Amino acid sequence: MKPRLLELPLLQNWSCHNCGGCCKKHLIEITEEERLRIDAQGWTVAELPDGLPPYVHLGPASFGKHRLSQREDGACVFLNEAGLCRIHAKFGEAAKPLPCRLYPYVFHPTGKGLIVGLRYSCPSVIRNAGRDLDAQRDDLKHLAQATVADWPDNIPAPRLSDKSPGAWPLVDVLLAAFIEDLGDRTIPLRLRLVRVAAWTELLSTANLTELTVGQLRETCRVVRATVAQLLTDDPAAGGNVAIPPTDRLTRLSFTQLVAYYTREDTVVDQSRGWGGRWKLLRDILVFTFRRGRLPDLSPTWPGILIRDVERNLLPWFTPQADELCTRYLVTKLQSRAFCGPAYYGEPVIEGLWSLLLTIPVTVWLARWHAITRMTSNSANGGRDAGRVEAASSESLRIEQIDLETALARVDHNHGYSPALGLRSVKSRLRSFARREQLTSLLWNVTREPV
Ligand code: SF4
Repeated sequence: MKPRLLELPLLQNWSCHNCGGCCKKHLIEITEEERLRIDAQGWTVAELPDGLPPYVHLGPASFGKHRLSQREDGACVFLNEAGLCRIHAKFGEAAKPLPCRLYPYVFHPTGKGLIVGLRYSCPSVIRNAGRDLDAQRDDLKHLAQATVADWPDNIPAPRLSDKSPGAWPLVDVLLAAFIEDLGDRTIPLRLRLVRVAAWTELLSTANLTELTVGQLRETCRVVRATVAQLLTDDPAAGGNVAIPPTDRLTRLSFTQLVAYYTREDTVVDQSRGWGGRWKLLRDILVFTFRRGRLPDLSPTWPGILIRDVERNLLPWFTPQADELCTRYLVTKLQSRAFCGPAYYGEPVIEGLWSLLLTIPVTVWLARWHAITRMTSNSANGGRDAGRVEAASSESLRIEQIDLETALARVDHNHGYSPALGLRSVKSRLRSFARREQLTSLLWNVTREPV
């Protein structure tokens, strides 16, 4: 295979801080070669916890697929008490299955080569903690080689929109405009979100592939400038941001979407049979009808009444929040992790809309997390969490830890949860955009108390 040009995201650092989180949250499928390598490592029952085998079948045995065993809490069988990998400790990093070596990196095609992306489900990525990626370029090249060795050289570009087939030079024009607008921190984040949504809604109605690169660039310049004039918060320019209210149907669809982003199923959850399915159905109904108690997401993130999350707008926007959300959006765009094969085959514009919606979903989840963090009563295991009326709601605000926890949950699923790739979810997104409800959600869910 020819060596491929490897680009790096510009705003992101990362090093592993051995939190072991990735070894508890993901199901690791292994190839036949990796299965044989683990056999050859000679693991004994005494070395692994709970008498578990190193790996088990993934799906019916006739499929011939395997995954690493997991314990009750979802932890990989090779994760030791100190939070370290047994394979790594005994045989070195290169002896681990490829998904373990790769995480949190991903590689996506750019038309000229590859670009590195990162998963924000990793706390070190969220905090931008670790070494500059440029200093890790050699390691990344080796990983890329192992990951994409069998990819073809000419990977087709993603579609530009539902109406426009793809071409890499035109994808690059759109991407540059998205990044310039969303990365401009001199403009409030909410305004950036609605402006980009608004001008891409306009572009999505035309066949862009009929344009040359120069014509598309000029078209983008004109629609962006027009939308910036129409959607301005600058009183001197006589503007106000006139965004339609969010209708009831959209609110219901939005909380259903939030439900998809809350899932973090372990193998044990999946094997709970009818009891598990009944609980899942009950949880979905809470989100769908916006009534009742939300599910417990973790011991430190218990369920509370959904009405407490819906009714209590909390302050959330700080320079740190702005930095995190901007870095997230720009890194996902730069690394092409929002469209094409990386995002359920979605076109560039529709994939962008899904990415924009991760911000209101994150703020909604962060509000829930903040309420439980500030009001939980440890004396009864947190079951009184969320009794906002009983607490001093004035002192409540979304802190950075709430946003980080929520964004990690969102990015765990964005592009990875099969539910988010369902046709019904995709058509709901398009319905939001057609009815001016995309801008409405972006604007209204992220607002702060006045
Ligand atoms: S094999 Fe090691 S690195 Fe991979 S999930 Fe298990 S403990 Fe983590």
